[in-house]
Amino acid sequence: MRHFNIPVFIPELACPFRCVYCNQYTITGSCKTPDVAEVENIIQKHLSTIDPAGSRVEVAFFGGSFTGLEGSLQNQYLEIVQPWLKMKVIDGIRISTRPDYISENILENLRKMGVRAIELGAQSLNQEVLDKSGRGHTIADVENAARMIKSMGFELGLQMMTGLPGDNEEKSLQTARKIVELKADTTRIYPTLVIRDTPLAELYIKGAYMPQTLEDASQLCARLYDVFAPAGVKILRMGLHPSDGFFNGETLLAGPFHPAFGELVLSKVWLKKISHLPETYSDEKIVIEVNPAEINSAIGHKAQNRLFLQKYYKKVKFRANPDIPRGEYYVDTH
Ligand code: SF4
Repeated sequence: MRHFNIPVFIPELACPFRCVYCNQYTITGSCKTPDVAEVENIIQKHLSTIDPAGSRVEVAFFGGSFTGLEGSLQNQYLEIVQPWLKMKVIDGIRISTRPDYISENILENLRKMGVRAIELGAQSLNQEVLDKSGRGHTIADVENAARMIKSMGFELGLQMMTGLPGDNEEKSLQTARKIVELKADTTRIYPTLVIRDTPLAELYIKGAYMPQTLEDASQLCARLYDVFAPAGVKILRMGLHPSDGFFNGETLLAGPFHPAFGELVLSKVWLKKISHLPETYSDEKIVIEVNPAEINSAIGHKAQNRLFLQKYYKKVKFRANPDIPRGEYYVDTH
């Protein structure tokens, strides 16, 4: 079944926190919350491009901390979706929010209004990293919110970041392991970028913060993938959605940004899988069969995995085979 998210960005206009990396208006490219008519238009526009048969369609209120909005405003947005939910054109609502903006009352209301999935910006499960990043919440906040969300039957998403101030590879791997322990259904991984006009940009300019290189960030995310994938935690995204300001330097000052960051990571995941092949097979020809959904990742970004194998074999071919389960491959040397 194909999954479609209809994204509705609700930027934080009055966020009382100051996470060091955040310039909330820049990230969403907008500094105004959408009104009812605008949200209806966004939904209608997306629905006109989606064939609902055999699809799961969700409206996703992203961009800020949804449950940090006044209760009446939350319901005003959620109400807009109700007619489509009743007609079963839309299957559910997902929201993103902060871990310390969750309570039983809030969750009761969200459930009543058709919210099915809640994604929390956990960012790190190391308290020192949380403190240095100015998150303003504790590990216990994440744990408590995650337990409440799971026990009330929602799909739980725990988003994490890499390369935060005070962070390192081991702490990021520990964060991923804790996300698995907390029984998250999904995750998103965002390497920290240095956005202009943020406290992190000041630290970077003073030389007090060094972002990850693209190579380090993609290598680490490949290791995080190996924690999440076997545990069944679905990775919904790796790397921020590109916006114009990232390309022309208007908003992005430094950091491991790449428009196809997820593809870079998946290339590395597959390179690790197939890099032992030269020792295993001595034939001149090699055919690697993978699930069609993964053939691009297996071949690698800019065919880097094929090029690697071509150092050892005269002929290297990748073939899509729907019978091969995702994550696995079959090697044919004839
Ligand atoms: S990332 Fe932090 S500062 Fe930015 S909107 Fe979210 S909670 Fe507020």
